[in-house]
Amino acid sequence: MGNEVRDVIIMGTGPAGYTAAIYLGRANLKPLVIDGFQPGGQLMITTDIENFPGFPAGIPGPELMMKMREQAAKFNAEFTHGSVTEVDLSRSPFALTLEDGRELLTHALIIATGANAKWLGIESENLYRGRGVSACATCDGFFFRDCKVFVIGGGDTAMEEALYLTKFASQVTLVHRREEFRASKIMSLRARKNPKISTMLNEVIDEILGDGQKVTGIRLKNVITGELTEHACDGVFMAIGHAPNAEMFRGQIDLDDYGYIITKKSSTETSVKGVFACGDVQDFTYRQAVTAVGTGCMAAVDAERFLESIR
Ligand code: NDP
Repeated sequence: MGNEVRDVIIMGTGPAGYTAAIYLGRANLKPLVIDGFQPGGQLMITTDIENFPGFPAGIPGPELMMKMREQAAKFNAEFTHGSVTEVDLSRSPFALTLEDGRELLTHALIIATGANAKWLGIESENLYRGRGVSACATCDGFFFRDCKVFVIGGGDTAMEEALYLTKFASQVTLVHRREEFRASKIMSLRARKNPKISTMLNEVIDEILGDGQKVTGIRLKNVITGELTEHACDGVFMAIGHAPNAEMFRGQIDLDDYGYIITKKSSTETSVKGVFACGDVQDFTYRQAVTAVGTGCMAAVDAERFLESIR
């Protein structure tokens, strides 16, 4: 890979990035795809995906991502490992710097950098991360065989994490800050029906307790009464939503109040001509694999039209 100017570079290898790569590869534009720090994106750490059309029996997230990668490679998409550490969108062609110091130049850029799990941001959470505190049941659940664990959050992720953890843990407690779960009915019902799962509502974490080496419990605060209660446990799983991976574009591209890239209505165009965004990095509302695939396709079509317009 020399320092020639590429037609189009895709940042990110979740469903949005891979779909853009399939379309641009098929259009003979030889896209260069930068893997990012988590190749395959969030679906690499999910279990079965049951709602991706075409897979009535469900498909494991990593398998789906492998198939998408294969499909992109078949159409001559080129992949490179590593993460982008710096972008300069003020110049044309755009310049990207990778963590190993390589500089890449491109006429069009597709941002498909996705989103990542959010953390509470308290000190004890940081102290015990990897030592009982996790944000990924599929990655770490295995270590909690016959243990007592808490899952924080009331959305679909929290339900999914809690259900997954019942495969290993002896007891799973869902802690939610409100009376009502945000999760879809089907997921909440599944969690409520599972005999290993109990729920604590109107509670938030006050502190994660430990012996300096590992988690030993959790202190909760009731948001109505203010009462503090301590509960012994071995693990705490955060499932409180996601934050978009868009900080590196701040100041160069318009972001919304939550840090998501703003795209124009019915398009993937950003505030910079020639830069397109797709998938979770620009989607606060839906955040589904299927919608990421859809916007990945849109970004490819938009980028192709842009490239035609500058030729
Ligand atoms: P959501 O934003 O839907 O839910 C986050 C949950 O965490 C909410 O219940 C929220 O509470 C709670 N929360 C947020 N911040 C805090 C905090 N500081 N302290 C305590 N609790 C907090 O995120 P998810 O990751 O669950 O889901 C994201 C999207 O992905 C959704 O569209 C979901 O449907 C989808 N998804 C679908 C799945 C599937 O179909 N199999 C699986 C997983 C996700 P509150 O409700 O009060 O705001």
